[in-house]
Amino acid sequence: MNAQSTQQAGAGGRTLAGRSAIVTGSTSGIGLGIAQALAGAGANVLLNGFGEAKEIERIQREIAERHRVDVAYDGADLTRADAVVGMVQAAERRFGSVDILVNNAGIQFVSPIEEFPATKWDQILALNLSAAFHAIRTAFAGMKQRRWGRIVNIASAHGLVASPFKSAYVAAKHGVIGLTKVVALEGAEFGVTANAICPGYVWTPLVEKQIDEQARAHNLPREEVVKKVLLAQQPNKRFATVEEIGALTAFLAGETAQSITGAALPVDGGWTAH
Ligand code: NAD
Repeated sequence: MNAQSTQQAGAGGRTLAGRSAIVTGSTSGIGLGIAQALAGAGANVLLNGFGEAKEIERIQREIAERHRVDVAYDGADLTRADAVVGMVQAAERRFGSVDILVNNAGIQFVSPIEEFPATKWDQILALNLSAAFHAIRTAFAGMKQRRWGRIVNIASAHGLVASPFKSAYVAAKHGVIGLTKVVALEGAEFGVTANAICPGYVWTPLVEKQIDEQARAHNLPREEVVKKVLLAQQPNKRFATVEEIGALTAFLAGETAQSITGAALPVDGGWTAH
């Protein structure tokens, strides 16, 4: 679909009507917020991630019915390169093309480096960095050929600065930003943009769980944990929401963002302005 027909189809705020997207790690948290935002703008979406089959079916149905788009699901374990390739090819078969690729799936592990398990390093690099490479590598030729594509990599404030005890995560997220810049340069003449979003703390089930754990460990009320432990780095002292990350992703996927490429956009309440 060319830009003009997409804009026509996008009347009424459905600016991504006729486009098809993959959002990795979209059964929960930020990825789910992004999938909702892209579907809300009219894009078909392939969901990916782990979870209970019934709950995933419910999410799939809810997004499809609410936004009147085609919603697929692929449960690929993205630590495996062949599974990443298979997921992209499945989306191409289902939708006819992959126009928007959001590499979001990621995990964290916290440990001093001398005790950091080598297996955790390998797993985090495989999911948080290599999966993005394999997905982009597989989807890129089609985007270039159609002369339209949007790649959004969910990096982190930890793609721009470091914290102790997060060696694999920080290395992978810095790598994602490097990968984003290379892909932006290779896609620039073909209408394919690539950008990284760099959230600070975002309110997700993962973070919610951490608050309870930290409250118990520090014997502090939840509000104090939020301010003194989790948001110590975040000057605005608030979590970003998955809706905010979703809205930015939908914007970057749209027509009016065609000159934004190779950027690493902090959504961190001022964290990396320090
Ligand atoms: P989350 O745990 O809520 O969601 C992670 C998603 O990835 C889930 O859908 C999960 O099933 C999926 N997943 C995990 N392992 C997978 C695998 N091997 N293959 C395929 N899918 C897999 O986490 P979140 O907080 O929404 O984080 C999403 C992304 O945002 C991650 O890349 C994370 O690093 C990044 N991020 C999060 C925050 C935050 O504060 N929550 C801040 C900065 C960056």
